[in-house]
Amino acid sequence: MHIFDDYLLNPEQRIYWLYLLSAFGISLVYYWVQPKPKVTHINTIYGELKAYWLHPSALLDYRYFIAVWLIKLYILLPLLLSAKTVTLYVNLLLLKIHTPLHLQFSALTISLLYTITLFISSEFSRYWLHRWLHTVPLLWQFHKVHHSAEILTPLTFYRVHPVENFLFGLRYAFTAGIVTGLFLWLFGSGLSLYMIGGTNAFIWGMSLIGSNLRHSHIYLRYPKFLERWFISPAQHQLHHTYKYCSKNYGGYLGIFDRLFGTLQLSENINKPTQYGFPKKLAKRYSGLTNLLIRPFIDCKTLWKRKHEKI
Ligand SMILES: [Zn+2]
Ligand SMILES: [Zn+2]
Repeated sequence: MHIFDDYLLNPEQRIYWLYLLSAFGISLVYYWVQPKPKVTHINTIYGELKAYWLHPSALLDYRYFIAVWLIKLYILLPLLLSAKTVTLYVNLLLLKIHTPLHLQFSALTISLLYTITLFISSEFSRYWLHRWLHTVPLLWQFHKVHHSAEILTPLTFYRVHPVENFLFGLRYAFTAGIVTGLFLWLFGSGLSLYMIGGTNAFIWGMSLIGSNLRHSHIYLRYPKFLERWFISPAQHQLHHTYKYCSKNYGGYLGIFDRLFGTLQLSENINKPTQYGFPKKLAKRYSGLTNLLIRPFIDCKTLWKRKHEKI
């Protein structure tokens, strides 16, 4: 089925089966080493799992995932600019400035350099887009959809408004296009990504070490020194609380949060007891239609208010 090919069987997606399996394995180890409650009856475990996976917020994530998949497939994808087009224009622009340099390095060096540059520049542009989604009032109306989740499940990663999806698609096209165009000019054709399992080796590695746990209730911290470089699941869970939502904008890396003053380590902060918005605000995002339409209504209200003032 199409949706399985697009997600569960696609290593470029967060919910690729192997990443889910590794997240499950890490969760088991996490529970194993946690201090155990005195009574752990099978019915209690079942009740807790049911309350988590069948919570109204989680159920809404499942329905929303299918709806947005269809919107992406039939509306967004045909509209998006491709990284190839950007590459072409960047390459043409550079050729106008100077003839290609065609620097001589081994294929392995070029491939590693290209993979690392692509990964770091992608993290950089992701950091800034995420930050603007919080700080620009009109963009925040759309990003609120992601932050409205009261329960974090791996599918909450996909609770993103199509407008935000579109912006992230453009961000990717520009980042990958600029880096590839530049590398073609520097090193000539024959560029190849350092891949594992059909995806960027870095993303593959990061996904295996628990990126799915960021949207979960497994409060997995990394040691302090590591959280300064990589965003741990606990750090992203803090980003989903009302108090710390202006911290930890990074995807995989914490270095840009550190550089631009938004890093929040999980040290000395207990596992959050509530995610998303306070009750009154959360109610406004309680159904599929609300998630899709509410941001446009709120943008219109903001726009009107601003122009009435003028
Ligand atoms: Zn956010
Ligand atoms: Zn999130």
